[in-house]
Amino acid sequence: MGRLIAISNRTATQSANRAGGLAVAVWESLKSTGGVWAGWSGEISPGEPDGPRTLSDEGVEFLLTDLSQDEHDAYYLGYANSVLWPVFHYRVDLATFDAEAFKVYAAVNQRIAAMVAGRLVPGDSVWVHDYHFLLMGDSLRRAGWTGPIGFFLHIPFPSPEIFRALPEHPWIARAMCAFNVIGFQSEQDRSNFTRYLVEEFHGEERGEGEIAVFGTTVKAKAYPIGIDAEGFREASNSELAQQAEARIGRFLGNRLLVIGVDRMDYSKGLPQRFEAVGELFDVHRELHGNVSVTQIAPPSRSKVDEYKELRVELDRLAGRINGDYGDLDWIPLRYLARSYQREELAGLFKIARVGLVTPLRDGMNLVAKEFVMAQEEDDPGVLILSEFAGAAEQLTAALIVNPHDRAKLAETIHLALTMSLDERQHRWRSLRDIVVSQDINWWRNRFLKDLHGLQSV
Ligand code: ADP
Repeated sequence: MGRLIAISNRTATQSANRAGGLAVAVWESLKSTGGVWAGWSGEISPGEPDGPRTLSDEGVEFLLTDLSQDEHDAYYLGYANSVLWPVFHYRVDLATFDAEAFKVYAAVNQRIAAMVAGRLVPGDSVWVHDYHFLLMGDSLRRAGWTGPIGFFLHIPFPSPEIFRALPEHPWIARAMCAFNVIGFQSEQDRSNFTRYLVEEFHGEERGEGEIAVFGTTVKAKAYPIGIDAEGFREASNSELAQQAEARIGRFLGNRLLVIGVDRMDYSKGLPQRFEAVGELFDVHRELHGNVSVTQIAPPSRSKVDEYKELRVELDRLAGRINGDYGDLDWIPLRYLARSYQREELAGLFKIARVGLVTPLRDGMNLVAKEFVMAQEEDDPGVLILSEFAGAAEQLTAALIVNPHDRAKLAETIHLALTMSLDERQHRWRSLRDIVVSQDINWWRNRFLKDLHGLQSV
């Protein structure tokens, strides 16, 4: 089998950065075949970026480029994070459309494609990741590469009605069809993309996910991403996890813990979740003093204004709820705007009775799967999962909610807190079976099987 060449905006050059799901999966894939991982170095160069830098680790070669200040502002903060991210999460209202930023976005795709294409040899397969590089297939073709190119979108693909709001949608769609295989997190995302091609460009579905369009054929399929399930279970039994459990245990006393862990992002439904918690304590006075809700949400992409507003909103809501309901010895809703290590999170999940994963829109949501793996069979917690998370297609034994329905969400938290041990175990076993069998290796192998099946293109 030939080499695998992965391209993603950020790479995991240091072992400390290989903790996330994507980083682990790409890293393991590259190590097994020997390969190259190309992307942004994470540095901004004062002038035009110099030629790429290479380094290698355990047989994997990293090919890294800095971004110029203009590229960083227009490609990364601009088009990727302030246009594609909101639109693909169904928040057209938050997008700051900018034709100039799109030009820079396209130019960065081309620059990185040229950097990679020069190193490709026949037999290689290219695997491109995420919304930063929607044009990379086309850019690689223009740079002369004729071999297989796969693409995996880690965030949702919106419905055609929303995708059409992007002024550049026809160019993006055409460029995406230069990939041979396009992977989505869910059936919903795949069908949105297919429907768009059929409606907008008279694409024809040929079975097995293949669509004939623009004089070519592209395979579009759902490959829901998994976690390193066994690894997370081990993390939940680590010393760091036990320390975290003991620390929060001192705060909890006999109270039941409801936990949420999210990056602070408007896609995560945090204000709606806080409102529902307020409603829970409003309606169920018997829970006062007996339940503690803890939300961990470190700020992300803090340079973008919406995130600052979100922070203010969450501070306000938490202040109100604690002001209304808290007591001398009880804080109803604790909100910690910081991050914790993976093992510590595993410990917190393990001790929690309820896990709240209620995004308004999310590609997959790995936290849902991590929560499941941290539970213990003799006393498992209950997962409350938004119907708008990609994970909802797989984790059907969770309590599935509409995060916009505040009263229903409050009642669902109550239901989870009062659920019998028997039902908790029953639900948890079926969740665990899915998370274990459809783990990160399952995801990678399914995708690479389809990509390598194209070796002859
Ligand atoms: P997203 O990719 O949109 O952030 P996911 O749930 O798919 O959402 O993945 C988030 C990852 O980041 C998970 O592995 C989770 O454990 C980790 N994470 C989320 N919040 C925190 C936090 N407060 N501290 C440390 N890690 C976090």
